Amino acid sequence: MQTPPLLFVTCKNVSVKSLKKQYDYVIVGGGSAGSALANRLSADPKNSVLVLEAGRPDYWFDVFIHMPAALMFPIGSKFYDWMYSSQPEPHMNGRRVSHGRGKILGGSSSINGMIFQRGNPLDYERWAADPGMESWSYAHCLPYFKKMESCLAAEPTDRFRGKSGPLHLERGKVRNPLFGAFFEAVQQAGHALTTDVNGVKQEGFAAFDRNVKRGRRYSAARAYLHPVKRRKNLTIQCRALVTKVVTEGKRATGVEFRLPFGRTKSVAAREVILCGGAFNSPQLLQVSGIGNEEHLRSVGITPVHHLPGVGENLQDHLEVYVQHGCKQPVSLNPLMKFWKRPFIGFAWLFRKGPGASNHFEAGGFIRSNDTVKYPNLMFHFLPIAVRYDGTAPAGGHGYQVHIGPMYSNSRGSLKVTSGDVRDKPAFTFNYLSTPEDLQEWVEAIAAARKILNQPAFAEFSSGEISPGPQVATDERVLEWVRKDGETAYHPSCTCRMGVDEMSVVDPTSMRVRGMEGLRVVDASVMPYVTNGNIYAPVMMLAEKAADLILGATPLAPEPVEFYRHETR
Ligand SMILES: Cc1cc2nc3c(=O)[nH]c(=O)nc-3n(C[C@H](O)[C@H](O)[C@H](O)COP(=O)(O)OP(=O)(O)OC[C@H]3O[C@@H](n4cnc5c(N)ncnc54)[C@H](O)[C@@H]3O)c2cc1C
Repeated sequence: MQTPPLLFVTCKNVSVKSLKKQYDYVIVGGGSAGSALANRLSADPKNSVLVLEAGRPDYWFDVFIHMPAALMFPIGSKFYDWMYSSQPEPHMNGRRVSHGRGKILGGSSSINGMIFQRGNPLDYERWAADPGMESWSYAHCLPYFKKMESCLAAEPTDRFRGKSGPLHLERGKVRNPLFGAFFEAVQQAGHALTTDVNGVKQEGFAAFDRNVKRGRRYSAARAYLHPVKRRKNLTIQCRALVTKVVTEGKRATGVEFRLPFGRTKSVAAREVILCGGAFNSPQLLQVSGIGNEEHLRSVGITPVHHLPGVGENLQDHLEVYVQHGCKQPVSLNPLMKFWKRPFIGFAWLFRKGPGASNHFEAGGFIRSNDTVKYPNLMFHFLPIAVRYDGTAPAGGHGYQVHIGPMYSNSRGSLKVTSGDVRDKPAFTFNYLSTPEDLQEWVEAIAAARKILNQPAFAEFSSGEISPGPQVATDERVLEWVRKDGETAYHPSCTCRMGVDEMSVVDPTSMRVRGMEGLRVVDASVMPYVTNGNIYAPVMMLAEKAADLILGATPLAPEPVEFYRHETR
């Protein structure tokens, strides 16, 4: 007897849709990469696509995700965030570093800072230098970077930027006088300005692109999923936590998942594509028996396929804020006042006022010393002194730079502690664990201080609030970084592409090595974290992966000359 189709409330506006028993593609995670893939794979009506997303829908009325300036509210809230924490970090006084991850349609792109950075072209040359990774050079990635974006600030003749892709990018308006002082100060400190950090020359300081459209966050779900959600061959199921990849021998045949009120279901798939992000994809592989068999056995999981690299090679960007008090009443501090919120909210309904900006409007990239080939430090300038989660240290007017090394050689790992996906995995980054990492941190803080102490800030600065002048020696600086450093929210590289024994994903197909019918496409497949925020690289690789999965001819490489610093 044929089982009747299951009925579920989906996150579509049309509310009720039946789930089939089998799909061509089951995408685990309707986050950043998952949204892009769902769009591209369902473009052919012959492909049936199911997206299973653990979080809830990105409701149109949810002001906390759609208002750019409200970005601190979802972080640390169980309604939007997986709320992870690292294991005690051995080189940070045993501190656990908290890690937000989007648990909502759009994933982390629905709760992130909206800053759009491709990274340096040399990041991709580094990727391509690894065996088997030739097709991930900058020339190969550039056509996908262009395909996915509509960069409003670029000239139509710009060879580096796209003008007609789904990701709408507007450039920071940098109207606050503190931005003017910042741009002047960086030049006084000996750095150059650049016109576009995503263009021919990343090195230098400029206004940043952001994922905001007419004053509203433009998440991956908004850009890729909502425009196609009525396709008959695409089903999006929210509040569906995938608990296991079902396998027969070395082939994935479907997934099991949990719905609200403890209901459990399974669905068959020709292909299962994991898009759960750098923590959840390796976790799901491990609970499904794919990982280091010795570790799997030690936590009671029966191994299906020995793949020792799953969960290894964990990378991130650690950052701190160097903050100054401001003696002129020009910073954004008054906007933090509770009584102002209704006014900001009301103005934002017309897409006006401070609610319409993410306020990370400018920054830049420099090399911390003359031996590095390309910028290893990123700065974000913010015309307010405040923590990412919205808490201000000293109150009053202020401003800050966010600073941290971009391709540190510290490496961590992630391991499940049981076979239940609801148990959070244990992970450690080993931040600050190498001499190079420590040296870059000392150089980073010196570089930030040099900029903030230039004459251009004289009329504004009332002195350094954090770390404060008492933190004067290298030892004190490192002590402060250990105490105050936080994630910049860029965990990645835990299922890295490659062809060696410790790699997890085949770079030419995105297949999990040694398995059939199973692929991974998200931040976990990067071999090395890129120099900058990583949403743009994730979306680029999802666009390229769609072609690889569909068997389409990849876009032709575009070899271009880009800026290279001559090292001594
Ligand atoms: C607070 C914050 C600020 C950030 N700021 C920036 C920024 O300004 N600029 C930038 O470039 N980058 C930023 N990032 C990083 C960037 O947003 C992420 O690296 C990127 O979006 C990751 O994309 P992804 O597809 O790998 O994962 P995600 O977008 O996180 O998607 C994973 C999805 O899978 C779902 N999922 C996971 N496990 C399961 C399961 N078992 N079953 C079903 N669904 C599951 C999750 O709920 C989620 O929706 C920020 C990130 C955060 C968290």
